[in-house]
Amino acid sequence: MSGVNADYAGLLDTAGKLNATANRVEGTRNSLALRYRQLGAGWGDKKYQELGDILRECNSALRSVAKTLLLGEKSVLMLADSLREYENLNLGNGSGAGGSQLPGGNAAARAETYVQDNLGVWVNGKAPAGYPEVITARYENAQPNARKVFDRFAESLVIRDADYPTSETPHYAPRDREGHPRGVYYNAGADASNPRGAGSTYFHELGHMIDHTATGCQGHLSNTEEFRAALVADGENVLRLFQQQDDRGQDQFLRYLYQDAAHSFSDLIDATTSGQLAGRYGHRREYWQRAGALQAEAFAHFFEASMGGGWKLELLSNMFPTAFGIFSDMMDSLQPQELNRVLRR
Ligand SMILES: [Zn+2]
Repeated sequence: MSGVNADYAGLLDTAGKLNATANRVEGTRNSLALRYRQLGAGWGDKKYQELGDILRECNSALRSVAKTLLLGEKSVLMLADSLREYENLNLGNGSGAGGSQLPGGNAAARAETYVQDNLGVWVNGKAPAGYPEVITARYENAQPNARKVFDRFAESLVIRDADYPTSETPHYAPRDREGHPRGVYYNAGADASNPRGAGSTYFHELGHMIDHTATGCQGHLSNTEEFRAALVADGENVLRLFQQQDDRGQDQFLRYLYQDAAHSFSDLIDATTSGQLAGRYGHRREYWQRAGALQAEAFAHFFEASMGGGWKLELLSNMFPTAFGIFSDMMDSLQPQELNRVLRR
């Protein structure tokens, strides 16, 4: 059960405690009311009326405490749910996850099956026929700054399982866990005929790994307030422009948005407009409430689009121009040393 971990169990435990506490508060409320009624049998004076007023206030306060606790329980359960679903993107600081630890560690037993693919990434699992060519072609069509970043990190990138079951969500696991070491898990066969564009999952998940690795696994490069604010402002701007269109304009826009190849735009516009605009792809609402989630997804989407993503790149850079500019600056900040030396000369 790779999706279930200690954090998930801890959240379930917290939810259970919130529920139990809410029940105890309700119990207190009921017993106070009962006591008051019992007192009333032989104590029908002014003091009794005053006590009644205090108790009624107390009663309504307790009721609101119980309600808040139950709401808290619901939020914690939702969080647990999204954590289980998206444990792939752990945005906390890595707890000693190996920086550029290559095949080995927990996967030592099957380390001999790792080979470097055409781009230098360590891969465990066989590539389907024609897939390496697809990846190479995208690499060759990549934006130069993104391609240099890829080159710089390629040897630290590890695909732990390129034959991950298609029933599971492909992901980058940021921490070593027993039987699930740090790295990318996805299905290369499915990615070869990916309706969102062949090779999209490969470059998206490796984008997440670069975002994390670039900080020495101490966080995510993308996790800045500036990037988040730019994404939201760009998204709100698109929504405003959409609302100004007549019916025909809106239909046309939605037709674009509903294409498979617009999956990343759909995901980001859904996130930045709280679902007011969305195509066919998107994460669950609770996922976006996690600090850094929006920036990390945008980084991976922008990176994937930059690595030979074709039309997607145009779409994302036009719709999120400010955020894409910040992403480009991040790419520039990650250029390999050789380039810096050339520039300094
Ligand atoms: Zn992602």
